[in-house]
Amino acid sequence: MPYDIVVLAKQVPDTKRVTGDAMKEDGTVNRAALPAIFNPEDLYALELAIEVKERFGGSVTCLTMGPVSAAEVLREALYRGADRVALITDRRAAASDTLATSYILSCAVTHAAPYDIVCCGRQAIDGDTAQVGPQLAQKLSIPQVTYVSDVEEIAGSLIRVRRHTDYGMQVVEAPLPALLTVTDKAPEPRYPAMKRVMKYKKAMSPAEAEARGLPSPMGDMLIETWDLDTIGADIERCGMAGSPTKVKRIQSIVLTGSGYHEVQPTQEGIEGLVHELIEDHTIG
Ligand SMILES: Cc1cc2nc3c(=O)[nH]c(=O)nc-3n(C[C@H](O)[C@H](O)[C@H](O)COP(=O)(O)OP(=O)(O)OC[C@H]3O[C@@H](n4cnc5c(N)ncnc54)[C@H](O)[C@@H]3O)c2cc1C
Repeated sequence: MPYDIVVLAKQVPDTKRVTGDAMKEDGTVNRAALPAIFNPEDLYALELAIEVKERFGGSVTCLTMGPVSAAEVLREALYRGADRVALITDRRAAASDTLATSYILSCAVTHAAPYDIVCCGRQAIDGDTAQVGPQLAQKLSIPQVTYVSDVEEIAGSLIRVRRHTDYGMQVVEAPLPALLTVTDKAPEPRYPAMKRVMKYKKAMSPAEAEARGLPSPMGDMLIETWDLDTIGADIERCGMAGSPTKVKRIQSIVLTGSGYHEVQPTQEGIEGLVHELIEDHTIG
């Protein structure tokens, strides 16, 4: 039986390539100074979705919400095997916190229906909250399985997955449609296929085509662009208006070592270390 899968992918700044000017004076991230990449765990979510499609048939749709430049992650999703992609972009979505983001994404997923499985990364490396997946499942009124590392089986409308947590492995069954948040314990993402890169490197959103003075692309070369009206979102629940989170203070913390002392590999040395760790409440 074929399954329609929607993958949520976020474009994020590459926090591994942080340089001196990556932070602004007020302590916020200077996004312009950092290369933008496909959020790493979202690549695992996409791979999981493509493998399910290869095993059972169906389709993979990849959605991202972001500025016009976020179309780059959608081209990458096409290179890796997505069938359909759409960019949700709208100035009225700016300054959305996770509540507003998950609301907008829930409208987009509903607009992209039908779907049997929604795959998110567990966490984005910039916002870092891991809230969007669970909030999205709640808004879609579907079950969620977090920390997914593998899909064992899908039979009819029942999915069986493995969860990889700090406490070990769990096998969980859920009725479909369901939302999975996927971690980097899932199968390694494949490399983009050269044939698909050659084909889809010309895929563009209408805004990108206009900026390059080209006619709007057609068919599967079109990166669909949806605004908040297209997906039927209530504007009051989007952007600043729909975001109850208030950021009181942003602090730049630099972790430095203040020296070290050596512990002898003896019974006494280890006991002393454990005692010290209990005293400063590191363990206990
Ligand atoms: C008060 C406030 C104001 C903010 N203002 C801005 C702003 O002006 N501009 C800005 O860029 N950010 C802003 N943010 C950050 C923004 O809220 C978060 O980046 C966003 O809600 C996603 O949360 P996260 O990064 O923690 O995602 P997580 O919950 O860690 O992400 C989990 C998964 O959800 C999916 N996902 C998350 N976001 C998206 C997305 N955009 N598209 C597709 N899939 C997604 C991915 O699969 C991801 O792996 C603001 C945050 C707050 C609290």
